[in-house]
Amino acid sequence: MNPKDPTNGHIEKLVIIGSGPAGWTAALYAARANLDPLIIPGRATGKDLMPGGQLMLTTDVENYPGYPDGITGPQMMADFAKQALRFGVRAVTDSGIKHADDIDINNALFTPYQNVESLDLSARPFLVVGDKDFQCRAHALIIATGAKANWLGLENEQRLAQSGGGVSACAVCDGALPMFRDQEMAVVGGGDSAVEEATYLTKFAQKVYMIHRRDELRASKIMAQRALDNPRIEVLWNKIVVDVLGDDMITAIQLKDTQSNELSDLPVKGLFMGIGHTPITQFLDGQLELDDAGYVKLDDPGRSTTSVEGVFAAGDVADHVYRQAITAAGMGCKAAIDAERYLADQGLDD
Ligand code: NAP
Repeated sequence: MNPKDPTNGHIEKLVIIGSGPAGWTAALYAARANLDPLIIPGRATGKDLMPGGQLMLTTDVENYPGYPDGITGPQMMADFAKQALRFGVRAVTDSGIKHADDIDINNALFTPYQNVESLDLSARPFLVVGDKDFQCRAHALIIATGAKANWLGLENEQRLAQSGGGVSACAVCDGALPMFRDQEMAVVGGGDSAVEEATYLTKFAQKVYMIHRRDELRASKIMAQRALDNPRIEVLWNKIVVDVLGDDMITAIQLKDTQSNELSDLPVKGLFMGIGHTPITQFLDGQLELDDAGYVKLDDPGRSTTSVEGVFAAGDVADHVYRQAITAAGMGCKAAIDAERYLADQGLDD
């Protein structure tokens, strides 16, 4: 079989792409609604999709209701996967579709899955092509591929982010950790996200430095003024971070002045990225309406419907405002219910 031949491929009722909180929640609800969903969780290597999503890069999650003692991001996502698989969700692995019974439920996120390579949303049922010799057709799709935080790309930044060494791309997720209380911290960026992160961190930190590469904030006027008026925030203008110092924990950042090229060390106990996010929508290849920043546009912000009937979106791929595990999970629930109603209306639900 030629996997790229659009006439090939069996028909699925519902395919869910992505396996963060939105994807697994959609899968859980769809499975319990007897839609027999198929999930394409993504693969950590090579492409952007990662089984478990952004939470796999978060250490402690203390703001997800139901976990009174907190939980690590990877453990939480393992629980999400386990719960969905318990209801028989099937997943696309590198060797094709596997039923939940054939997946090691305790290591579900470490199964070698596939990425989605492309979609044809002009075909009905939609055509879904994986990147490892897989294709199927689907009456309905839920896009839950998320967004990835932008990083500076420094070696020590990544090392300390992955080891829980005080470097993070989410102040709301990690800022309240005890290690940051009453400390001096830094946020990189000059946009609304950076201001929001810095302002949030002032609840815990003694002082927050905003490191901005220019002499003017990109943030909206009201947000920028909020940062400038906050006595606990100091903006360091015309500075870029060139290194992150510290063995197990961050101790300082090395800054370079963009005008004088002068290097300096700034001691901080935390470093947060506020340099934007990139939604994972490239594989859609212009077939779904996106906003200016590349996020999937929802017909109505309260729903999950998109510009193509039968295609639903959930989680950070369609939300650049909240970006929380709990909001993504809620959107996944909505998308599954919307998909269920759509399939029922079309008479495609059995
Ligand atoms: P953004 O507006 O694109 O700002 C990114 C910031 O990071 C810019 O200041 C940029 O510097 C800086 N930056 C980018 N790459 C960098 C690098 N490699 N090194 C150093 N600095 C770098 O992104 P955002 O703040 O995430 O906002 C995205 C969208 O969401 C915006 O439309 C924003 O208004 C919206 N948003 C709204 C709210 C709210 O209203 N509450 C909150 C968050 C986000 P330059 O300025 O020099 O380019």
